[in-house]
Amino acid sequence: MDPISPLEQALHAARALVLADLAAGEVAAADVVSMVEDSVVQRRWWVEQWPDGVAFVAGLVAQDVQDSLLERYGRWPLCPVCGTGDPHALEVEPELGPDPHWVCHKAGVKVAAVGALGSATGGASSS
Ligand SMILES: [Zn+2]
Repeated sequence: MDPISPLEQALHAARALVLADLAAGEVAAADVVSMVEDSVVQRRWWVEQWPDGVAFVAGLVAQDVQDSLLERYGRWPLCPVCGTGDPHALEVEPELGPDPHWVCHKAGVKVAAVGALGSATGGASSS
């Protein structure tokens, strides 16, 4: 058996991280999971064209899924930091870089690493 390539490892990790964040927001429905799968397929192609981008895959998959959700369901993930004002989504930073985080631009804070949103929001909504 061939060892798993770094590309497949990165894609697998990205998939797991984004699914964890979706589960934290309780939006891991079947069609949402398929959005993640679609993104992973596209990003596999993308990294095959540009292998140096392998470390950026998790952030990109998170942004792809965020865009797909915005079209079909609405903003995700909603900011858990700002208690008042209009509900708004977190954004991935860096958009194209390693070690992606969810940030709130309104409060100017890093909320959580991609994949760790559950710990930032305390799991199920508490309010
Ligand atoms: Zn906010």
